[in-house]
Amino acid sequence: MHSLTPLHTFGLSARSKKLISVDNDFSILKSIDAPLWILGEGSNCVFLEDFDGTVIKVDSKGKTIKEFSDYFQLTVNSGENWHQLVCFCMQNGIFGLENLALIPGSVGAAPIQNIGAYGVELNQFIKQVVCIDIDSGEQQVLANEECKFGYRDSIFKRQLAGKVIITQVVLHIPKRWQACNHYGELAKLKQPSPEQIFAQVVAIRQAKLPDPKDIGNAGSFFKNPLVSNKHFASLQCDWPDLPCYSVDHNSVKVPAAWLIDHLGLKGKQIGGIQCHPSQPLVLTNNGTGSGAELLEMARHIQAKVESTFSIHLENEVNLIGNKGLVKL
Ligand SMILES: Cc1cc2nc3c(=O)[nH]c(=O)nc-3n(C[C@H](O)[C@H](O)[C@H](O)COP(=O)(O)OP(=O)(O)OC[C@H]3O[C@@H](n4cnc5c(N)ncnc54)[C@H](O)[C@@H]3O)c2cc1C
Repeated sequence: MHSLTPLHTFGLSARSKKLISVDNDFSILKSIDAPLWILGEGSNCVFLEDFDGTVIKVDSKGKTIKEFSDYFQLTVNSGENWHQLVCFCMQNGIFGLENLALIPGSVGAAPIQNIGAYGVELNQFIKQVVCIDIDSGEQQVLANEECKFGYRDSIFKRQLAGKVIITQVVLHIPKRWQACNHYGELAKLKQPSPEQIFAQVVAIRQAKLPDPKDIGNAGSFFKNPLVSNKHFASLQCDWPDLPCYSVDHNSVKVPAAWLIDHLGLKGKQIGGIQCHPSQPLVLTNNGTGSGAELLEMARHIQAKVESTFSIHLENEVNLIGNKGLVKL
């Protein structure tokens, strides 16, 4: 058995039958029996208990950069660290990714939930995603439109979930840079440079979010729910200060943190698991937590939100049991 505890940022105690680290030769995949779990840096995966199969840790490193008249093309292997890629771009005058600084995880996992922060989403820069079909070993190249990107969503979470390994991500980053500073505290910056946005994003994230190095967590545990305009209007009668962000003509996004906070669940503890005292969307593990306690906490929050607001919260993190994904 192999310990998975240091391989996922939530840090629950768990092991797998087999653990294989893959760099650039993915041919081994064909000979592995199910259940199989593909792992990057484990910042969006929580192993609730021992995994009764093989964990494939994607470690392929390397990147190439090509310059064209109006954009840079970056072809990056999946095992590269996302934040280090952002830093590399900043140091080399390739600007656009700065709002996505300090998001934990690997480049290969980044398209899966279409990582996003401070008004920018990765799909704005993706040209292609290169992957290998686990069953056939064939390479597939998906163009941006084929990836069906949405809010924290893509084809890799749906039709292709568990079927492919992403080996490379190809980004096109326009040379004509435009600041994206309309979101939250970035709005205070007037005509900022890319470096100023980068520094501000890093500062905000360091001040606000618990660092998994200090306390186990997997970032936002729940997605911000979408609610219909009609439902939102009825909620506003009872909670006039309920915030929302517009999404389209029919629906709005409501901050899950507000809902949880409003129910007084900030700081709630079940065993070694806590709803973070200042960031209620983040659940933490003080080092002694168990998978059962985490599920109890998550289901408690979900049930309270559902009964009070008639809103169903979905988990943003992957919860993994002994055979694979577990539903809340
Ligand atoms: C403190 C903290 C803050 C965060 N903030 C944000 C944020 O602001 N915005 C945001 O969008 N996310 C955020 N996240 C979530 C996380 O950073 C992203 O989901 C990230 O992309 C996960 O990368 P990873 O390598 O750790 O993926 P993992 O957790 O290892 O895997 C995530 C999923 O991708 C699959 N996977 C991983 N690599 C591959 C591959 N090469 N091929 C196929 N499938 C693969 C896994 O099977 C799993 O389904 C945060 C997380 C933490 C802990």
